[in-house]
Amino acid sequence: MATTIGILGGGQLARMMALAGAPLGLRFRVLDTSGDACAGQVAPLVQADWNDFDALRAFADGIDVATFDFENVPAQTAHWLAERVPVFPSPRALAVAQDRLAEKRLFEQLGMGTPAFAAVDSRADLDSALARIGAPAVLKTRRLGYDGKGQYRLRSTADADPAWAALGGVPLILEQFVPFDFECSVVAVRGRDGDFRTWPLTRNWHADGILAASLAPAPGDARLADAAFAHARALGEALDYVGVFALELFVHGGRLLANEMAPRVHNSGHWTIEGAQVSQFENHLRAVLGLPLGSTASRGPAAMLNWIGELPSREPVLADPVGHWHDYGKSPRAGRKVGHATFAAADPAGLREALQRAGAALGRVEQVAPVIAALG
Ligand code: AMP
Repeated sequence: MATTIGILGGGQLARMMALAGAPLGLRFRVLDTSGDACAGQVAPLVQADWNDFDALRAFADGIDVATFDFENVPAQTAHWLAERVPVFPSPRALAVAQDRLAEKRLFEQLGMGTPAFAAVDSRADLDSALARIGAPAVLKTRRLGYDGKGQYRLRSTADADPAWAALGGVPLILEQFVPFDFECSVVAVRGRDGDFRTWPLTRNWHADGILAASLAPAPGDARLADAAFAHARALGEALDYVGVFALELFVHGGRLLANEMAPRVHNSGHWTIEGAQVSQFENHLRAVLGLPLGSTASRGPAAMLNWIGELPSREPVLADPVGHWHDYGKSPRAGRKVGHATFAAADPAGLREALQRAGAALGRVEQVAPVIAALG
C-alpha cells in the first residue's frame, strides 16, 4: 500500500509538499475549510470545518501520518487527530507557535535575544507596557496573526488609544519596534530520530508585513549564521520538534533578536526547491515519515521573489536561463500570495545579472533592488 500523508490546510505549502512527494511515491489527502484551496488541484481535497469531527474521522481513516500547511488549526483538532494517527509536528509544538507570548517566553528561556515584550490584556496593561518598553512599538494579537495582519504600529504613546481601538478585546502582546539592520530566517528540519539540519541562513525583505524577497545563502558573517543555527537547534530540541520549521530573526547592531517561529515549511524556504540539494518540502515529508533526511546544502546563490496580489508576466522568467516559475493556481486578490519565482545561479555575479534582467522585464526594479545591493 502506498503511504498517504494527510495535510491540514490546502494552500500553496500543501500544494508544494504534494508536488515534492510525488517522486517518493507518496499519496496525499488535504483538508481545508475552502472548497477551492489550491492544493486541491494536485491532491484529493476534503472541504470541512476544523471542528467537523465526522469529516476529520473520514480524513484520518487510511492516512499514515498527518501534518500541517497552516499553523492556526485549532489545538483541539490537532489533539483529536493525534489520538488516532501520528501527527507531526506535535500538537504541543503547534500550540507554542500559535501564541506569540508563549513563543517569546520560550525564546527567552532558551537564551535567545528578543525584542522587549509585554503581555497586554487590558487598556491599563497597554499603558504600563508602553511605560516600560517605550515607543515606537508594535501591538500584535497573540493568536491568528500572519503576514503583518493583527498588528498596529505605535509611533508614540499617543497612539495607545487608536491601537487599542484597532486590536483590543483579545489577548495581545506589545513589542519594542526594532530598527533592524536586516531580517533573516533559519529554515531547519528535525527528524523523528533527532537528526537536525539547517539550510543556509536566508536573508529576507518584507513589504507591508509580507515577505517580498529572500536571498540564500545570506551574505555576511558566518558567526552570525552559526549563532542563528544554534538557536534553531535549541528550539527544535526544546519542542522535540519533528519536521521543518522556520525561525525568523532581526539583526540589530550585530545581535540576533528572535521574532517568531513558524511550525511548518516556510515562504523563506521556497528557494530550496531549486537552490538546495533537497528542498524544505521533501525533507519535511522525509522527517514526518521517519525517512533519512537529505542534504540541506546550497547548490549556489538563489533569490526568491514573491508575487503578491497578482502574477507578473511569466515569459521573462520562463525564458531566463536561471529562472523558475511557480504559479499557485489561486485567483488574484490584494495581499494574497499567488506565486513566486526563484533565480538559482552558479555564482553571485550570475544571480545579480538575472535579478537585473527580471527586475527590468517584470517592472519589479524596486523589489529586486535590495537583493542586488545585498549581493554586493
Ligand atoms: P510578524 O508577523 O511578527 O513576522 O511581522 C511581520 C513583519 O513585520 C516582520 O517580518 C517585520 O518586517 C515587521 N515587524 C514585526 N515585528 C516587528 C518589530 N518588533 N520591530 C520591527 N519590525 C517588526
